[in-house]
Amino acid sequence: MTQLTLYDSLSRSMRAFSQLDPIAGVRVYSCGPTVYNYAHVGNLRAYVFTDTLSRVLTWKGHDLTHVINITDVGHLTSDADAGDDKMEAAAKRSGQDIWAIARHYTEAFKQNLVDLNIRAPTHLPLATDHIAEMLDFARAIEAKHCYRLESGLYFDVSTVPEYGRLARSADDVGEGRIDPVEGKRHAQDFAIWRTSPPGENRQMEWDSPWGRGAPGWHLECSVMSRKYLGDGFDIHTGGIDHREIHHPNEIAQNQAHCGCGDSGANFWMHNNFLVDRTGKMSKSSGDFLTLQALVDRGFHPLSYRMLCLQAHYRSELEFSWENLGAAQVRLKRLVQAVEALRSRRDEPAKGSAEAYRRQLEAAVSDDLNTPKALPLLDALVGDKSMSAGDRLAALEDFTVILGLPLDQLTRADLRVRPVTATIDVAAIEARLAERRAAREAKDFGTSDAIRDELVKAGVEVMDGDPLGWDWRMTG
Ligand code: AMP
Ligand code: ZN
Repeated sequence: MTQLTLYDSLSRSMRAFSQLDPIAGVRVYSCGPTVYNYAHVGNLRAYVFTDTLSRVLTWKGHDLTHVINITDVGHLTSDADAGDDKMEAAAKRSGQDIWAIARHYTEAFKQNLVDLNIRAPTHLPLATDHIAEMLDFARAIEAKHCYRLESGLYFDVSTVPEYGRLARSADDVGEGRIDPVEGKRHAQDFAIWRTSPPGENRQMEWDSPWGRGAPGWHLECSVMSRKYLGDGFDIHTGGIDHREIHHPNEIAQNQAHCGCGDSGANFWMHNNFLVDRTGKMSKSSGDFLTLQALVDRGFHPLSYRMLCLQAHYRSELEFSWENLGAAQVRLKRLVQAVEALRSRRDEPAKGSAEAYRRQLEAAVSDDLNTPKALPLLDALVGDKSMSAGDRLAALEDFTVILGLPLDQLTRADLRVRPVTATIDVAAIEARLAERRAAREAKDFGTSDAIRDELVKAGVEVMDGDPLGWDWRMTG
């Protein structure tokens, strides 16, 4: 077995991974979505990353407990204590019941996970189901670490060792740079409990020793990670934005609660961002790319997974339709190669898959290097020194680790087919059959006329395409 090494953002180094508790298995906590709207595809990159992590861990034989929380309360429109609660703001905007909004977007998120072949986490706890535990946690740290202001209960960051060690930029760390709340002792101090302002009606609020109100956003993750995984679990994940404010604040809370210097997790891992030049990756802007938007343009959700896997999780990844299209073509090539292998499954055994298995393990053990694993997969399907059956057997490790079910997809699934297309597949296939007959009869006039008609309908006919595609939508 190759030793798994992972990049730990807190020590800023690659470290050998070993399971903390031999009996409990590996315990992973991933900061989940704020459910005031659909997840954008950037958010979903964070969960493709954690899914790769969980797949590698289980493939290596670890039992896994994985938590993704659902933030249905408390996250303000900035990561700091500024602006409105994102959930309350969404409810006000749409005139809908805040609980219904939360339920709707939570279900949509779960469906995104299914569509991307992301394994369901062991627990998907809701913040609003843990208010009592949050109040207990806050009471436990209040005396030594918190102070009261009119607007709530605040955490004094000078009461814990090395506040903000995780953050990259010492100048940037903390919340005060964004919104100096009157009376805060330090700019980075943050809300543990936010008291509802007098006269303001919130749909989600609870009684507390500090007045009626709602928990600060950071509190839920300290509470739910502890509840489901215990003090001191294996790995905590999130996007790199969380490295600056949310996770330093979680760590501060954890230190306060345990009365020790421990951060709460053995590894802190952060995925880099999916970016695009058109600014379609900001949920708060309202105009952003969802997985459904990709599907509506005719792409398969797993092509987006492929796009993510082609980049290392710690590299920035640029989104473009061209990149997505290229990822879909790559996936389609693999699917077609696997289809061909399956038709020759009964060939006599030949060759050994061992080298591929070893190299695959080496790639993913090196901080989940999926871009290094993908070319191995390409090489494996095309390796003529091995029989079809042996290649198919060797493929299983790849499909499990990468989460690409190549044997369940067909080339038709991967045909770009926008919802706006005016012609349906049956009609295209029928016209193409007529065209083939015309060509066989050497009636090239009719054949060309059908081709022109299809081009007008947004269908490109690809004669002699080495991939064997008959057509594709250009829309
Ligand atoms: P949110 O719903 O905003 O709380 O974010 C859910 C997850 O997505 C968090 O782990 C974020 O750090 C992560 N995230 C947000 N934007 C991006 C992005 N553009 N690319 C990758 N991850 C992101
Ligand atoms: Zn969190």
